[in-house]
Amino acid sequence: MGPVALGKCFLCAMAPFRRRNMGFTPIHFSEEDRIFQDQIRRFAEREVAPIADEIDHNDRFPSEVIPKFGEMGLLQWSVPEAYGGPEGSLTMLCIAREELARYSLSLSVMVGENGNGMALPLLFGGTDAQKQKYFPMLAEGKTLVAFALSEPEAGSDAAALRTRAVRDGDDWRITGNKIFVTCGPVADYVLVFARSNDAPRAKGVSAFIVDTSLPGVTRGAKNKKMGYNGATPNCDFFFEDVRVPADAMIGGDGEGFAIAMKCMEFNRPAMSASALGIAQGALDQAVSFAKEREQFGKPIAEFQGLQFMMADMAMQIEAARSLLFEVTKRYDSGEMEGYGALSAMVKTLASDTAMKVTTDAVQILGGYGYMKDFPVERMMRDAKVTQIFEGTNQIQRMLIARDLLK
Ligand SMILES: Cc1cc2nc3c(=O)[nH]c(=O)nc-3n(C[C@H](O)[C@H](O)[C@H](O)COP(=O)(O)OP(=O)(O)OC[C@H]3O[C@@H](n4cnc5c(N)ncnc54)[C@H](O)[C@@H]3O)c2cc1C
Repeated sequence: MGPVALGKCFLCAMAPFRRRNMGFTPIHFSEEDRIFQDQIRRFAEREVAPIADEIDHNDRFPSEVIPKFGEMGLLQWSVPEAYGGPEGSLTMLCIAREELARYSLSLSVMVGENGNGMALPLLFGGTDAQKQKYFPMLAEGKTLVAFALSEPEAGSDAAALRTRAVRDGDDWRITGNKIFVTCGPVADYVLVFARSNDAPRAKGVSAFIVDTSLPGVTRGAKNKKMGYNGATPNCDFFFEDVRVPADAMIGGDGEGFAIAMKCMEFNRPAMSASALGIAQGALDQAVSFAKEREQFGKPIAEFQGLQFMMADMAMQIEAARSLLFEVTKRYDSGEMEGYGALSAMVKTLASDTAMKVTTDAVQILGGYGYMKDFPVERMMRDAKVTQIFEGTNQIQRMLIARDLLK
């Protein structure tokens, strides 16, 4: 069989795969999961795809789309039904994140991450009175929340944070500096982790809900990022003697760091789903381009050098997707044995896959891939951050190794 015939044969064999054009749906998805996936997919195609490049190029917060997320329950994902929230599963959260990230990482990350910045700490450490106070407000899907753990001297080593909370009668006074806060410029509330007692490192850290309109709260200028632009503007925060009431503390004195780690553990699969979505989006783009672009008198998809690249991209994506939905299935059914290590594994695998696949997608598009006219350029820039935030991939590998060696 000559090379042209081999190429034609390959394209025929790939036809059903191409029609689906979005990877394989995990076999264990329930009927409800599939219907939800279909709804989000259609929403993403209708509302997100048309603005994805524009909000990146102009770094514009898409305030016309965010309220629709709230109406669909996507901003307030983990708020319990008892308080009017959707109380969604981790599996469905990840389905939404993957589908939206096929077009836009920043809009994908708004799902769950935003409302969950306050909802998860409340779930993990809030009193009934705090839940009663904040959950109904979050359930409306209009409140924007940011999560402020990182500081100039405390990144991967977050337990080294220096922001202080000092007791003053019935209140706490918070002073310190937080950096790189996602959604900081638009947040109504920010969850602040501060040192509230003299215990060393993690044991001295507490979590506080801070209204961003309080006196003493100042936001820095919007940070200019490599990518991940649009729906997730980023800034630093300065807190100067910010007075918050005693019930702003979630969890007990010194329990804040453990709460932060639980939130990050929950968020890792969600971040993996976003990384996976970028990878799938980039593969879809690369496959369509390769079928259209002709060089040496034939579509470049017929060159085996590119076919092998695309095959590797698809394999890596399916491996990451399989692990992701295995992890979410375990979480949703309460099987927490090994969850910490598994969630670190999937975060690392999915984000490394996103970086590799988007880089290869740019390669397949050649010079066009390097131009801002094609989304793979943005996808490659966006993929990079998934290896950095929610704990860098070096830190994830440390967690995996720690679990292996315990
Ligand atoms: C776009 C963006 C959004 C963000 N959003 C938020 C947010 O909303 N809230 C928030 O609190 N933070 C946020 N962050 C901060 C993010 O969590 C940190 O950037 C991340 O934890 C790494 O910290 P660092 O940047 O200080 O790097 P460092 O900790 O200084 O690390 C630098 C390098 O050293 C490596 N390294 C560090 N320690 C070790 C070790 N022990 N072994 C091996 N390698 C190591 C790291 O992996 C990295 O490669 C965001 C960051 C970005 C880029």
